[in-house]
Amino acid sequence: MQKFSPEQEMWKIRREFGEHGGVAPSISRSATFTVMDPSEMPEIFKGVRGPHKGGCFLYSRHFNPTVDILARELAAMEGTESAVCTASGMAAISCALLQICHAGDHIVSSDTIYGGTHALLEKLLPQMGIKTTFVKADDVDAYKAAIRPETKVFYVETVGNPTLKVANIPALSKISKENNLKLLVDNTFSPMMVTPSILGADIVIHSLTKYINGASDVIAGVVCCSEDFVNQLMDLHTGRVMLLGPTMDARTAFDIQQRLPHLAIRMKEHSRRAIAVSEHLENLNVKINYPGLQSHPQHELISSMLNEGFGFGGIFTLDCETKERAEKLLSVLQNKERFGLIAVSLGYFDTLMSCSSTSTSSEIDQEEQKSMGLSPGLVRLSLGITGTLRDRVAQIERAVKEVGLI
Ligand code: PLP
Repeated sequence: MQKFSPEQEMWKIRREFGEHGGVAPSISRSATFTVMDPSEMPEIFKGVRGPHKGGCFLYSRHFNPTVDILARELAAMEGTESAVCTASGMAAISCALLQICHAGDHIVSSDTIYGGTHALLEKLLPQMGIKTTFVKADDVDAYKAAIRPETKVFYVETVGNPTLKVANIPALSKISKENNLKLLVDNTFSPMMVTPSILGADIVIHSLTKYINGASDVIAGVVCCSEDFVNQLMDLHTGRVMLLGPTMDARTAFDIQQRLPHLAIRMKEHSRRAIAVSEHLENLNVKINYPGLQSHPQHELISSMLNEGFGFGGIFTLDCETKERAEKLLSVLQNKERFGLIAVSLGYFDTLMSCSSTSTSSEIDQEEQKSMGLSPGLVRLSLGITGTLRDRVAQIERAVKEVGLI
């Protein structure tokens, strides 16, 4: 158990009030900003002055005051010096990787990661001369063995999508530091629960689309990192966020800010329900995978990395073995029991559930799916916080019985 408190850190930073004394901050939607003295403009373009360097804002693809508030709050939550918000989680991942890796460089990645990220590493980045070796998520020695002279990055998800294998962040950090690599951690499944930066990660990424926003109504991302890496990403000549341009809109930043105050409460409730449902199903002898269960192979590891009070998260998987049975379970859960919604994504206040093999991991070919431990009948559930827990337990119990999982 870690001593870090993301809730406390987030509320230590300066509160922003709105114009006219608004309790909510104002939305600064301006695309461009005036300077009082024309001689300031060249200094801003040279990077000598700017909003963080005693100057002013320039243009909203560079920095925007509303987006900046969100970035500061997320950096505080993740225990990093600074952060850059982006238009999607994929933009955060691709810009961070492209900032570090150039043609000829190499990445060592966990094999159990979100399908879009897997496609980026396996198919798109090689077209730019950047290669990736995939290794078993839970085999620390395999990461070390895969390092080459041109390796620049270790890439992992704290809790891997969709197998829920847990990355040993302290051990990977030690190896990456010894070999002068950057450890990039996608913490999308476990905000507040785990703080990768205090465990040794260099860069922490989120798809804000998921738990952090929590309402499934925006697509957004963030790179939490050092001030120096923010300056690299935003550099006017070579910054991948500045020049590739996946800018977060100020209204999106405002919407997410308004949901951050209840992120801690939501995470606790997602976890409280997920452990209750998981234990109930396990007692019924259903094959369930949830990091909070003693039977999860890395239960001890994740327990040692957790911040106190947020539990083990809201995601669990049920192995129905075949695609047909998985589809039947989804159909019963949605259309008969009204337990949740058949949809990709996660971290919504309602339950979202999908068959990973044919949806969010479909970019990964069948052989690789097999080798990473992803069954064609795996159903991933992101348990919501609506309805009563008692009703939800009864609904899922009836559904697993109906499809013959017990
Ligand atoms: N990282 C993880 C773990 C994800 O599950 C996803 C999307 O499902 C992403 C990143 C990509 O995020 P976005 O859809 O916001 O681009």
